[in-house]
Amino acid sequence: MYKLWKWYLGKSFISKISVGFLLGIIVGLIFGQSASVLAPLGDVFLNLLKMIVIPLILLTIIVSVNNANPKELGRIGGKIFPYYIITTAISVFLGLVIAKMINPGSGLELPTSTNMEVSEAPSLIDVLLQIIPANIFQSLADGDVLSIVFLAVIVGFAISFMRNSTESHMNEWGSLLLKLMEGGSEVSFRILNGILQYAPVGVLGITASTIGNQGLHTLQSLAKYVGASYLGVAIHMFIIFSILLLIFKVPVLKFFRDIREAMMTAFVTASSLGTLPITIKNAHKAGISDRVANFTLPIGATVNMNGSGIHFGVGVVFAANIVGYDLSIGAIVAIILTGTLAAVGTAGVPGAGLIGMSIVFTQAGLPIEIVGLTAGVNVLTDMVFTCCNVTGDLIGAAIVDKSEKKHIMSTKDAINETTSN
Ligand code: ASP
Repeated sequence: MYKLWKWYLGKSFISKISVGFLLGIIVGLIFGQSASVLAPLGDVFLNLLKMIVIPLILLTIIVSVNNANPKELGRIGGKIFPYYIITTAISVFLGLVIAKMINPGSGLELPTSTNMEVSEAPSLIDVLLQIIPANIFQSLADGDVLSIVFLAVIVGFAISFMRNSTESHMNEWGSLLLKLMEGGSEVSFRILNGILQYAPVGVLGITASTIGNQGLHTLQSLAKYVGASYLGVAIHMFIIFSILLLIFKVPVLKFFRDIREAMMTAFVTASSLGTLPITIKNAHKAGISDRVANFTLPIGATVNMNGSGIHFGVGVVFAANIVGYDLSIGAIVAIILTGTLAAVGTAGVPGAGLIGMSIVFTQAGLPIEIVGLTAGVNVLTDMVFTCCNVTGDLIGAAIVDKSEKKHIMSTKDAINETTSN
């Protein structure tokens, strides 16, 4: 038994979850709906990831803030936010273009019986205001990532000020607190490593119950819509992202190899937030410095949604096809704007893109019932959209890290030059 466990531990994570995924498909296809009995195995995995994600974000950000200086954090933020906005706008546009070439909705009728509850979308100002937690315990309990990032950054700064204080007891407390946080962060990573050993079983449970419930026939009925979504994601991931990596001189193949566990986990869990612990782990593997990874990735997991942007673009054309609506240039510009904002507001959890899509549809004057129609295949598209969302977060972190390293090098060169003169 011990030997078997040792053998299992020695196998790579990616091969283990691949086996879980393939077995899940086979079990789902053979047993159909009855495969849902395996769903709890997947829920255990998702709950374990959710359990660790909050302490991980909180502690790693507090530690990172203490290892960076405020100017540096401002500089990183100033680079990552434009990256998020620009790549998301591109993704919405790409979704529109690809779908326009395929016209996935032509020939389909407006569903009359599909009813979907769409919750009211909060306004942008509300989203921004909610970042400041009125009740920190509630934000922690709700897993409200942006509020937790906000809290972690200010706690991090407070500890940093204490450590740099001239009063010796402040100094001691500050250092002690930082040590505690560092220890806590290490504990979180160790627990995460344990959770990852369970991942293949969780993946099997999720895949078997999904395939068993939805079946492959759903894929056939909306095949073109799904096809356009997959094609959009493939182009965004393998062309646009690769170009970005090449521009910043990051070795493309090695990078994708280093982050494949996060890509695979995002694909299977359909949750950027759930994948976050693995995203952070893979960022380390890809050589992205802690100060960039720990600060940008939790924000990226909630704000940066390139896959969701493609979702909205494809969805709009799909709906426009069904109702026979021609998109004007003005409408396209408005869709790109709302699509980008809706993607920013989309939570990194399964199915969240459907809410964002209804915001875009409302703005574009398209019937929301069509969101309900696509909801049937959302389980299939959500996987690739989430994979693209998470990959986008990692690419952003990688290129900001490259530019940070360049900045540090040029500052060092400038210092060397002045000292040698
Ligand atoms: N499931 C996606 C994510 O977690 C969000 C979406 O539904 O678009 O990134």
